[in-house]
Amino acid sequence: MAEHSSGFVLKYRRSSPICMRLLITGGAGFIGSHFIRHIIGNYPNDQVINLDKLTYAGNLENVADIADHPHYRFVKGDITDKKLVDRLASEADVIVNFAAETHVDRSIEDATPFLTTNIIGTQVLMEAALRHKHARFFHISTDEVYGDSLESRFVESSPLRPNSPYAASKAAAEHLVASYRRTYDLPTLVTRCSNNYGPNQYPEKLVPFFVKKLMAGEKVPVYKDGLNIRDWLHVTDHCKAIDLVLRKGKIGEIYNIGAHNEHTNLEITKRILRILGFSEDRIEFVKDRPGHDVRYPIDATKIMKELGWKPTVNFDKGFAETVEWLRNKFTPKVHVRNIRIHRKARQRA
Ligand code: NAD
Repeated sequence: MAEHSSGFVLKYRRSSPICMRLLITGGAGFIGSHFIRHIIGNYPNDQVINLDKLTYAGNLENVADIADHPHYRFVKGDITDKKLVDRLASEADVIVNFAAETHVDRSIEDATPFLTTNIIGTQVLMEAALRHKHARFFHISTDEVYGDSLESRFVESSPLRPNSPYAASKAAAEHLVASYRRTYDLPTLVTRCSNNYGPNQYPEKLVPFFVKKLMAGEKVPVYKDGLNIRDWLHVTDHCKAIDLVLRKGKIGEIYNIGAHNEHTNLEITKRILRILGFSEDRIEFVKDRPGHDVRYPIDATKIMKELGWKPTVNFDKGFAETVEWLRNKFTPKVHVRNIRIHRKARQRA
């Protein structure tokens, strides 16, 4: 065993220099796939196992570019599978737990898979981390555990008052993580991040869902008056923050992550329409989501001051690039083919 300059306890293997062996769960999803790419791209000696069940939200295309990397391995499986998790944990020094059921609307329809994956799954991972004396158990949480607030900003010591079954399952998982820290001395880290945007997000979340609908010629359904507020952060900035907490964060601590970049859902919708060149007639106001949180005002001062993190992606630019990426993804292929055929015919004429 050796101590890294970051204070991280790492295992040497004879043939290779120091490396971190990460078991990353949910790495075929939106944020997990970006995080794996960040690790593989920045730490040539680190080893990554990606354990993902490939639910409807998991997509191996999100990690296709690194699938053959010698330091990367994909395992299809469930984080509630004790045997499998134990075997994979024996090959790792740290677990970073992204795996979760994540869509609020689905949790309102049926909370059961949220409780199973988000709570039981977290417990199974922590048991394995304890058994194999991991150096870190990193739990990726969300700002939604705080519930909503119109005025005061949430700091890490603010009470958890989740409002949706999704948020409640994430808060329950966090309480379990805190209990394992206190009772078993598990070396835990927790982050609570605001809304992410960027490529690879499953098209049920606002930005990809709306672009997909617009590209299909449909209207976009905005809940109630669209005045619910979210704080938007580029997914790569989130990944850099996680990396920093992983290597330099203080064991047992919780860190908020957010850009202090708040916009109403209506502003975000109009921004998407502007970028794609559609008029505001495409907006359709629909009945509100039950229990809809109004605002999650995250205070990210702690990670900024203590670890020196700050967002680097300019919102105007990062958001426009994301929408363009989604436009390409959701442009009907047949439409593109017809345009090409049409162009060729014109060139021949
Ligand atoms: P996502 O829905 O895109 O991906 C979740 C991944 O977990 C999928 O690949 C899915 O196949 C996998 N998964 C689900 N159940 C599993 C199980 N039982 N075993 C193994 N794998 C399983 O989610 P995301 O948006 O990338 O979010 C990742 C994490 O970040 C979640 O824990 C979420 O709560 C948190 N988070 C997300 C946001 C956001 O804006 N998307 C913000 C803050 C925090």
